[in-house]
Amino acid sequence: MAADYYKVLGVDKKASSDEIKSAYRRLAKTYHPDVFATATEVEKNNAEKKFKEVQHAYDVLSDPQKKAAFDHYGDEEGPQASGFGGGSSGFTSSDVFHDLFNAFANAGHGRNRNSASQGDHLEYPLNLTFKEAYEGVEKELTFFRIENCTSCKGTGAKNANAFKICTKCNGRGKITVGSRTILGYMNVETVCDLCGGTGKIITEVCPECRGKAQNKVRRSLKVKIPGGVDNGQTLTISNEGSAGKNGGPNGNLFVLFKVASHPLFERANYDLKMTLPITVLDAILGCTVEVPTMSSPVKVVIPEGTEDGAIIRIKGRGMKHVGRDAYGDMYVKVTLDIPKGISHKQKKQIKELEGIFSDCKYEKMEKYRKKLRDI
Ligand SMILES: [Zn+2]
Ligand SMILES: [Zn+2]
Repeated sequence: MAADYYKVLGVDKKASSDEIKSAYRRLAKTYHPDVFATATEVEKNNAEKKFKEVQHAYDVLSDPQKKAAFDHYGDEEGPQASGFGGGSSGFTSSDVFHDLFNAFANAGHGRNRNSASQGDHLEYPLNLTFKEAYEGVEKELTFFRIENCTSCKGTGAKNANAFKICTKCNGRGKITVGSRTILGYMNVETVCDLCGGTGKIITEVCPECRGKAQNKVRRSLKVKIPGGVDNGQTLTISNEGSAGKNGGPNGNLFVLFKVASHPLFERANYDLKMTLPITVLDAILGCTVEVPTMSSPVKVVIPEGTEDGAIIRIKGRGMKHVGRDAYGDMYVKVTLDIPKGISHKQKKQIKELEGIFSDCKYEKMEKYRKKLRDI
């Protein structure tokens, strides 16, 4: 019995193909072996197991025939009852059933080890300083990816003469298999399992890739990061992932930004927030303070009678918008810094000041006293 592929991908049975695809992409990225390159063996093994599970679940749920079989029988290979199948020449019943589905769906172009498939997507976590994220920066990324072997041009053979005609299919790439199926006895044309559909068999493998047709290669790539990118955002660089198989397209390279925090500024979308401490006297009398921004410092006027927690907006001094000549705003939150460690003499002097304020307007205290009277 197969696993519950919907559960593996964390989607509902009624999920659309787009929902299934996005769940798969998210999980495949999470468990991708490249992400665990520096992890412990146990973590690597667990991630690899999960990655394969996710891959297989998606293989099934993204294929309409397999999905239908899974939805109906609880297994993508169809019914597992004995008495079904009984195929010849080493084929299992599920192989025949699988090929039967494909024979109907694709007129014999079944999925096989020589069919084109897209290369793996790669994720590259890239550390940026806050300033680099603001200004944009060019970075050189160095990473490993799978590329087609240049020595054998992706054939896996030592040279053009290192092939012979496949003895099983006589070079046709396809064989006919007679088998008993639920629909009766049928002749089904299927991909030759000996040559994998190429019609040729390699007699001497390429020494560079040892016949695998692909090699793991270290690559460097210069990438322009635009100003304004945020922590956790991803830049997709198309076709720079691993090479596809059998002429399939390359995977993509996902650059995941890890932006360091700023000592003073906190980002909120395209705005920046900072906290500015001022003295009680500056709050009472008002003052002008120079505050830093990501560009030049700005003189901010703190008006007379500013409350603790008041927020002052500096327009256009926030983060840069990606791909646009526009900036968010800077929000300066004022906080009163009440002096501590007052001496006996200072206490006496402050007490003497109390009288000065007695006939001033105290809005909050007036409101409070009014409410007190209403209790
Ligand atoms: Zn090679
Ligand atoms: Zn063959």
